[in-house]
Amino acid sequence: MKTAQQQSDALKSDVLTGPLVSVGEIASARDSGSQATRALFGIDRAGLIAVFAELGEKPYRGRQMTDALYKQRVSSLDEVTTLPQTLKDKLVGAGWHVGRPRIAQAFKSVDGTERYLIDVGGQTVETVWMPEGDGGAEFSEEDAESGARGWKRATICVSSQIGCAVNCQFCLTAKLGLQRNLTAGEIAGQVVAVLDRHAVELNRNRVNLVFMGMGEPFLNYDNFMAAVRILMDEVGIAAQRMTVSTSGIVPGILRFAQEPARPKLAISLNAPNDSVREAVMPVNRKWNIAAVLDAVRTIPFKGREKVTFEYVMLGGVTDRPEHAADVIKLVRRANLPAMVNLIAWNPGPGIAYESPTAESVLAFQKLLLAAGIQTYVRRPRGRDIYAACGQLKRTTENAAPAA
Ligand code: SF4
Repeated sequence: MKTAQQQSDALKSDVLTGPLVSVGEIASARDSGSQATRALFGIDRAGLIAVFAELGEKPYRGRQMTDALYKQRVSSLDEVTTLPQTLKDKLVGAGWHVGRPRIAQAFKSVDGTERYLIDVGGQTVETVWMPEGDGGAEFSEEDAESGARGWKRATICVSSQIGCAVNCQFCLTAKLGLQRNLTAGEIAGQVVAVLDRHAVELNRNRVNLVFMGMGEPFLNYDNFMAAVRILMDEVGIAAQRMTVSTSGIVPGILRFAQEPARPKLAISLNAPNDSVREAVMPVNRKWNIAAVLDAVRTIPFKGREKVTFEYVMLGGVTDRPEHAADVIKLVRRANLPAMVNLIAWNPGPGIAYESPTAESVLAFQKLLLAAGIQTYVRRPRGRDIYAACGQLKRTTENAAPAA
């Protein structure tokens, strides 16, 4: 495990230099120097056309490969029906393989949630499948409008890094430190592997993506956005069905604001003011709440889009009525189209916080609602399999402590 100093050094260096991985590097991310393990999965359409051009093949072959990877969800070249065997042999000869991340282990919760350890080149990363939505804000509003409750739908929670350098004090992932960034293929591959497992038909089943798993997406910005583009353009999931959560990485938010197509944004606020936030989220020392809100204001919100403030409630630390009063002031001053998601903290081994009582969560929500702030309480999912928010630590146990 990294020391706090190493974590903060890693955070600083990621922020200052940006962990950039190009499409070419994506293809060879797991390549130990030879061409033996170059992954096609994770390369976009233009990149695949270029791969086939290098083999002397026409652009339509690249397009066929794109459809096979992202629409038909093949996991090996043998499954590709549109390419002749001679061409598949040529690809293998040049060192290419599909290279899609693979579900190594699955844990199933009593509430239907599934948590996966997904193999990304010898290491594992966590992905969570939540059927019928997670009961959070992303669903409530739309459900009410469309009468969609009861439709088959699911949310997939996706990781962007192995471990995390941000060191939020309530989070089990933080205990791992940052191990490495995931490539675009490893991020998009979690989604496709899970869609495949559940035989999801995207034209019939509604799937939402939340980039709220392990890691800070905006400290792996280029790979995260490359994955988003593959998921939008090739897999066929609309950007409005995706939400990315950041701990408040200001340079990332400023870049995100410039994207022509992007997911919705959630800010992991988790505290009523800067002094509490510094204690709970050391990243606040680098970018305080005002700096984060200034960055969010540069986003051109579309239509009825809102920013979500995620608020993890820690018993006695952030769940009191006076904290609610501060949050009300903060949201009003922010002057943004916003809503609040309250999340009762999920306990984890080695973390000294306490869960809030159900009464304090509801009282908090009531105060915000009375102040005219759209506020939801996120229903915890998969606590018994360590799948709930802040619990992702690659544990291979199937039972979490009782909440
Ligand atoms: S809450 Fe998110 S940003 Fe904070 S340490 Fe955990 S994974 Fe990283």
